[in-house]
Amino acid sequence: MLIVMNHNATQADVDAISRIVAEMGFRAEPIPGSERTAIGVLGNHGYVDDTKILELPGVQRVLHVSKPYKLVSRDFHPEDTIVDVAGVKVGRGCRPVVVAGPCAVESEDQIITTALFVKSCGAVMLRGGAFKPRTGPHTFQGLREEGLKLLSKAGKESGLPIVTEVMSPDHVALLAEYADLLQIGARNMQNFDLLREVGRVRKPVLLKRGMSATVEEFLAAAEYILAEGNDQVILCERGIRTFETATRNTLDLSIVPLSKELSHLPIMVDPSHATGKRSLVAPMAKAALVSGADGVLIEVHPNPEKALSDGPQSLTFPGFKQLMSEIDSLTHFLGE
Ligand code: PEP
Ligand code: MN
Repeated sequence: MLIVMNHNATQADVDAISRIVAEMGFRAEPIPGSERTAIGVLGNHGYVDDTKILELPGVQRVLHVSKPYKLVSRDFHPEDTIVDVAGVKVGRGCRPVVVAGPCAVESEDQIITTALFVKSCGAVMLRGGAFKPRTGPHTFQGLREEGLKLLSKAGKESGLPIVTEVMSPDHVALLAEYADLLQIGARNMQNFDLLREVGRVRKPVLLKRGMSATVEEFLAAAEYILAEGNDQVILCERGIRTFETATRNTLDLSIVPLSKELSHLPIMVDPSHATGKRSLVAPMAKAALVSGADGVLIEVHPNPEKALSDGPQSLTFPGFKQLMSEIDSLTHFLGE
């Protein structure tokens, strides 16, 4: 429920309502706006009787928000959220960001060479998995803490903030020591304990869409993070599973403008996992930016043939350089 106040309501009116909402057993969250204040009511399961509230001084109207997400919705938070990743701003009105790097950190040489190269082409963050969520247990699972150390070294040498995946609630504290942006992978989008745990740390989160998640389930997953007090969340579309097998997943680009209607959170697109195919990555990265994405996440490897994971979708260095020059022209064209 959202209580919209009159434009001349006083702070005392807002405080009185917050008190009454608390007495009803719910949490009141005042949302100051340029025109008027609104008060979000959280913690209710189902419809809340609003008769008492409508009689209180300063109340203009009450909106019943039946969506499973509230803090994430534009109803509760009309202004766009800008996420700050170690000084790099992500969100509407900011220059679209390019996050690049290998699927997994494999060696010191691999990650440092890649970091310096992607930085020289204009990438603003470095990605690299240290804890890898692989489909089968007999494949490369990542270098774990050693991988975090190498990634951190590459981040320092290149000056790029680092993004890496956290798979378990037990690892959040460790990963938060190294990462500037904590990634929740598609396979963990509904790992609710993990979502709550990253909601409790003061680090921004990149939440990837589950491969079979509806837009509503995706936003409800983000709600878990915001409900713990962390509003620094970037959504990431990475393709969903459909009947089509010609591509690894099906890139649902309509989620970009749709999520911006429904939510104030920024959204990025990962065309690498969405397509699974090197030749499709650049066209879909550009399409993502045209659709309004706040950034793209691109897998790049110095030698994709030898990559320990996701080689077929990783761009080569020349391929990435070419894409970056195309993105540069495109962002000029888009007026960013
Ligand atoms: C990744 O970014 O390397 C990854 C595993 O992505 P996703 O969770 O989208 O499959
Ligand atoms: Mn990958």
